[in-house]
Amino acid sequence: MIRVSKQPHILIIEDEAAIRTGLTDALVYHGYRVDGVADGNQGLGKALSGKFDLILLDLMLPGTSGFEICDAIRKVDREQPIIMLTAKTSDEDIITGLGLGADDYVGKPFSVAELVLRIKAVLRRARTVVAAAQKIELGGDVTIDTQNLRGTRGLEELVFTRREMDILEYLHAHGERPVSREELLNKVWGYDRNAALETRTVDIHVAKLRRKIEIDAKSPRYLITVRGAGYRLVTET
Ligand code: CA
Repeated sequence: MIRVSKQPHILIIEDEAAIRTGLTDALVYHGYRVDGVADGNQGLGKALSGKFDLILLDLMLPGTSGFEICDAIRKVDREQPIIMLTAKTSDEDIITGLGLGADDYVGKPFSVAELVLRIKAVLRRARTVVAAAQKIELGGDVTIDTQNLRGTRGLEELVFTRREMDILEYLHAHGERPVSREELLNKVWGYDRNAALETRTVDIHVAKLRRKIEIDAKSPRYLITVRGAGYRLVTET
């Protein structure tokens, strides 16, 4: 299982101040960490940071629309939980919203109690999806069994720590999107603050993982560094 920081971090992208602040207060009361943004362009930047456990996304926004934001997220991250909030309730909009890959859709006006239930359900499902990957195969010669913390590289047996496996699973779940050290610290270690001070911890774990899964740890083929962006797990040959 991926260790998730105790308080899930939610991004609200909503231009109506009353709804944004009301929701923020209610979700903080329910134990979530919340960032709120009123503008679509600013929201898009934050949404693509990969730092949030869930995004509550309004449809009609100044700047980039909620649909465009959802589409942009899905191009780089299939796992990011997204719930759309909108006053538009026609079926066409619902279908478009779900077609772009939102996990759920809540029409305004909504009750906070109902929204919190939806948030919990979407977060639960997201964790199950991540935890469901039991086998990770790398380039045909490395096989990793995430449940048993073991693997093979050719004829060699590999043994991983839980933390090393959490890192591999997290990178694997995010496919082609490079994951920053800060995000790994936040999502795998559950560190909320001063993450920048601890990034060496991540590098040390990555170096250990490379000695296990790579033929040559100095020129990695699978656990690669994306300059300025972080780490990525390459699964194809
Ligand atoms: Ca709006």
